[in-house]
Amino acid sequence: MPPERPVAFSWDSVRAQLDGLPGGGLNIGWEAVDRHVRRDPGRLALRWLPRDSTGPEGRVELSYGQLAEASTRFADALRRLGLQPGDRVFLLLGRVPELTIAALGALKGGFVLCPLFSAFGPEPIAQRLEIGKGRVLVTSAALYRRKVQAQRAALRSLEHVVLVDAEPLPDTLAMPTLMAEADPLAPIAFTRPEDPALLHFTSGTTGKPKGALHVHGAVLHHLHSARVALDLREGDRFWCTADPGWVTGTSYGIVAPLVCGIGTIVDEADFDAARWYRILAQERVTVWYTAPTAIRMMMKLGADAVKDHDLSALRFMASVGEPLNPEAVVWGLEAFGRPFHDNWWQTETGGIMIANTLGQPIRPGSMGRPLPGIHAAILGRQEDGSLVELGPDEEGELALRPDWPSIFRGYLDEPERTAKVFAKGWYLSGDLARRDADGTYWFVGRADDIIKTAGHMVGPFEVESILMEHPAVAEAGVIGKPDELIGQIVKAFVSLKPGHLPDEATRRSLLAHARSRLGPAVAPKEIDFLDSLPRTRSGKIMRRLLKARELGLPEGDLSTLEQPEPPGGAR
Ligand code: ATP
Ligand code: MG
Repeated sequence: MPPERPVAFSWDSVRAQLDGLPGGGLNIGWEAVDRHVRRDPGRLALRWLPRDSTGPEGRVELSYGQLAEASTRFADALRRLGLQPGDRVFLLLGRVPELTIAALGALKGGFVLCPLFSAFGPEPIAQRLEIGKGRVLVTSAALYRRKVQAQRAALRSLEHVVLVDAEPLPDTLAMPTLMAEADPLAPIAFTRPEDPALLHFTSGTTGKPKGALHVHGAVLHHLHSARVALDLREGDRFWCTADPGWVTGTSYGIVAPLVCGIGTIVDEADFDAARWYRILAQERVTVWYTAPTAIRMMMKLGADAVKDHDLSALRFMASVGEPLNPEAVVWGLEAFGRPFHDNWWQTETGGIMIANTLGQPIRPGSMGRPLPGIHAAILGRQEDGSLVELGPDEEGELALRPDWPSIFRGYLDEPERTAKVFAKGWYLSGDLARRDADGTYWFVGRADDIIKTAGHMVGPFEVESILMEHPAVAEAGVIGKPDELIGQIVKAFVSLKPGHLPDEATRRSLLAHARSRLGPAVAPKEIDFLDSLPRTRSGKIMRRLLKARELGLPEGDLSTLEQPEPPGGAR
């Protein structure tokens, strides 16, 4: 049986901490911003650090009062363009203050917000605008010229393009002008908890991106999970490094900290380890939420790089997006004097589900435990196809009872795909995991990535983590290579840290290390060296491309790989 839910928890108690709208309404934008204005309009909501500045020059600060007014204006501006409740507003912007204003304005106007990652090329942008039937696109002149203008005519549902710049281009509108003409006191839309609020496309790690639809009621989980899994409290200074083009950057970069009434840091620049250390120190960041890709990049530089910075304000560090190798948890302790807290969730879940939380002992390599209110289980399939709950230490599919407020309500226009993941009263995550006797969850791998070798089931993460222990290894990706005799053989792709050579000696040393730690059945039989591993735009290792490469197959849609991904954008 799964561990009991704590008796004290109820969603009603979370709901009681929010305002709601008169008549039973609920609106994420109101709860994030306007709710706090009555109490403290001057409180810092957002501090923006421009790309080309390392000091106070060029910074923009927005108080809760300013953010409330600006987002109300933008909501009204959208309404004046003729948008109806539920219409979709797409954002294609770098990490700039206008993004936060536009996002909150769209929510307050009762429109559905759909953020796009600004480093996408024209094709993934057009594809998502088409699937999502975006009526408005908010972007910048530079991005519009480079990525949208040429295909504008083909985007049939797209009526308005709003540029954040003062001067519009042909067929576009200027956000500053629209806002100046809008009513700063316009009422916010009456939305109900079940009304659609957010459309998030998944990362596309396993194939074509899916649009996951979320509702306004999700804000309950944003608040709850921010408190429990990220330990956000009054007075915190929070930095979520995920790009708002991905679900983490919206749920935890924009919504959750604001709902908690705290100040966030937004850095425009791409990942740069030295810059990140400086921001953590200068901004007195107290809670930092980042991703394994970025942590691994920082590890490459070694722990000494941290020593020159005063990080005494930093209290809590968390990570999401990919499994966090035990090595990275240990490195966090060495470099920062505190561990990274790994947590697990998906675009579909809308918020953190399973987490290493403050005050619980961390088992490096584990994702932690389900949050209060989240009922998780490990399921197996019987021969007749029915699902059964598995016991401690058994590997199976990680599933959740779909009864928390931020569970997605379906994949846009894909009812069959949606029906497949909601089965027999569960939401099936497509990830394999196990739970130990203490109720701690361990990630095994994506169901699609599991390797079957000589009768064993091997999760790539386990093998990758062991390879990461080796001093020469910066990153590792592991796949199953078809083999007539044993089904699949375990094959690893490795990129090395500076100063190590991709030669036979290194290969032998890696194989020996893996064999001694994993045993010969699970250790890789082959190791190839790569300069870097293929990643999604959100920074995740794409094992399907490693497989395609191994088999000499066409690599499919590579549009997501056009430009190297800045780890700062990792979700
Ligand atoms: P797609 O569904 O399009 O293939 P994706 O699954 O990568 O893309 P996301 O919703 O961004 O899209 O990612 C969720 C997935 O990321 C999880 O299902 C899991 O495989 C992985 N993941 C996220 N956090 C963790 C974690 N802490 N440990 C292990 N895996 C994680
Ligand atoms: Mg997925």
